[in-house]
Parts: sequence; C-alpha cells; structure tokens
Amino acid sequence: MTSPTPRRRRPATELVHGGTLRSQFNETSEALFLTQGFVYGSAEEAEARFLNLSPGYQYSRFSNPTVTMFEERMAILEGSEVARATATGMAAVTAALLSQLSAGDHVVAAKALFGSCRYIVEDLAPRFGIAATLVDGADLDQWRDAVRPNTRAFFLESPTNPTLEVYDIAAIADIAHEVGARLVVDNVFATPIFQSPLELGADVVVYSATKHIDGQGRCLGGVVCCSKAFLDKHLQVFIRQTGPSISPFNAWVLLKGLETLPVRVERQSATAARLADVLAAHPAVTRVIYPGRADHPQAATVARQMKGGSSLICFEVAGGKAGAFAVENGLEIIRISNNLGDAKSLVTHPATTTHQRLTPEARAELGISDGMIRLSVGLEDPDDLVEDLAAALDRVRPAAAAAE
Ligand SMILES: *Cc1c(COP(=O)(O)O)cnc(C)c1O
Repeated sequence: MTSPTPRRRRPATELVHGGTLRSQFNETSEALFLTQGFVYGSAEEAEARFLNLSPGYQYSRFSNPTVTMFEERMAILEGSEVARATATGMAAVTAALLSQLSAGDHVVAAKALFGSCRYIVEDLAPRFGIAATLVDGADLDQWRDAVRPNTRAFFLESPTNPTLEVYDIAAIADIAHEVGARLVVDNVFATPIFQSPLELGADVVVYSATKHIDGQGRCLGGVVCCSKAFLDKHLQVFIRQTGPSISPFNAWVLLKGLETLPVRVERQSATAARLADVLAAHPAVTRVIYPGRADHPQAATVARQMKGGSSLICFEVAGGKAGAFAVENGLEIIRISNNLGDAKSLVTHPATTTHQRLTPEARAELGISDGMIRLSVGLEDPDDLVEDLAAALDRVRPAAAAAE
C-alpha cells in the first residue's frame, strides 16, 4: 500500500508549524541558533561542504537554521518555491533588483514607490548603467509605452505608500511577460494575508518584514520570495557574496511573528475599515482613501485581487499642514511615527517626513497633499481609537475653519 498523500494544510496552520526544524532536544518553540559558524567533523567534511557535496551549514552569512525556518515558512505562506531573508526590507528590494540587472538594462517602475525604493531605481541604478522609466502605475498604457528592447524588470508596490493606490498586478504582469521582463512586487502594504502577487502573475515578491510580519515594532528584516531558478541564477550568489544577511535573532523574532500574522492583520483591517468610515463622516476630513471602501478609486481592482482592505488608511484634513499637524498633536493613544504594521497605531505626515525628499511638484504628482495623514491601525480597542481620532479632529475643526 502506498502512504496517503499528506493533506494540504491551510495558511494559518502553516504559519504556526511550517518549516519547523527541530534539534535533537525536540523543543516546542523554534530554536534560536545564535551562531556565526558551524564546526565540521573532519577536514574531508569541510571540503565536501564547500564543494556543495555534503548538506549542512557553513557560515551564517550564507545560511543558518533559524533563518532557514523563517524562509521556509515565508515560502509556504507566499506559495513561492523558495524565499531568502535579508537584514531589512530595503536589502530585499536592492537584492531582488540588482541581482538580476546589469549595465545596459532598463527598468520600468511605478512612480508611487516607498521613498528608498524610488532612490534605488531613480538614483542608484542609473549610476551603474541601468536606466529607469517611472510611470503612473494605474495607467496600463504608460507601462506599455515605457517598454524598450532592453527592459528586463517591472517594479511596483500595491497598495502604494501613502495614497493607497491599487494597481492591476495581473495586467501589468502580462505586459512585462510579453517583452520577457520580470515583475517584482513590493507587497508590504497588502501583506501576504491579503494579496498573493505570484498567483496574479508576478515573478518576485519582496517584503519589509519590519512591518506586519514582526508586527510589534522590534526588529528590521526583509524577504525575497521567488522561483528556484531565480534563486540559483541571480539571488543566492548576490546575497552570499554581498552580505545583506539577516541576524538569526531577528529571523527568530520574525518567525514567531508569522504565527500571529493572520490574527493581527485581520483584526487591524477590521478596525481600519471602521475608522475609515468614522473619518469619512467627520466634517474636518476632506478625503479618505481606504482600499476596503466602495469609493476607493480602484475599488474593482481591489475586489479582484485583494482578500482584505489593509491596516492602513490615508486621509486629508482641512487646513493643510497646520490642520494635519494639529490632528497629529491632538492624538493621545495613536502615536506619531513613520513606521507601520505595528501593534501600536501610528500616524505620519508624509509631506514633511517620508516624502520630504521629493519636490513639491513630485508630491503633487503623487497626490500627496499638505493636509494628508497616513494612519497605520494597531491592535488597541477599536472604541478607544475611534474616540482618540474624533477628539483630535474635533479640536482641529475650529482652527481649520479659521485657516480657510
Ligand atoms: C518599510 C518599507 C520598505 C523598506 O523596509 P525596511 O525594512 O525599512 O528596510 C520597503 N517598501 C515598503 C512599501 C515599505 O513600507
């Protein structure tokens, strides 16, 4: 008799058990291998390990058992053949792009990128002979028109930071594949719980694990999810030789973070949906952008490609910068920070912080106004968050009215 095919386990189960490597002590919780290196039983074994003839670990810049557990669990969650962890989200983006590109290549990227991602394509890559064209990600014709014979990669994030625009990943993947380019998606804002870019046709998915995957604001980390062929041809050697490797300690924190990821993200998004409605109804708020609302500019795409609305809300208050600052300063529970995906609810004023580097024209082009605030919804009691926001907005209303 043949043994029964193992039942496919659902994501929440995999996030608790997937990828676990138990040591000889059979610990319940995943072990933290806080070691730089590994000893060999003999000179012959060391030789074989370096020739890749014997399995096992060599040095934690290349791989480490705790890091492997985190990578395996991420690959299972994302549905990718493999995953590789990095020290930060930016290290993951840099490795995913630069490992596959060379001088003479061309990249097409959506303009609405996380600030540092924009630096990689707009400033860094061109210094090494990799040209880049930035497009409005929502306009498929712009992606098509930007293609050149040497286009090798498309790059986007969706929903975008901070205006939560949502791009049609399947359609953009088709345009990329017609010309033999790969689509790289930064999936931080959607989280792996609400969006699976690989199923939509993307080739590589990158995360800042610093955000929802940690989820408690403790450590930095990144992940690249891709095919075994991409790993073997491009990524593995790049990470091994340039060294953006993650600390085993941080990988362990992130591995444990994955166990509670669906519970946290679902709760945060449910609260965000409620807060978005509260904001939309408040007279001091002139605009609310939330992917879960029917009035989102790309609501049809959201419905097609996302399983949830996200834990982030973007809103605009009357009175420009003064109005936005008054709201931020009037909050008591929600704190001012540029981080997101944390258990703590956080607000940021993109125009003066994360997007300060851009010219006023570039900000206007991205729809980032002076009255705009990004809210990352945490795990506090939703009633307390509603009260905190309402109190801060109420205090602003007279000031905003005076400023108009
Ligand atoms: C935070 C973030 C990054 C960078 O991640 P780090 O871990 O801070 O290096 C990249 N992309 C997006 C969308 C992010 O939110």
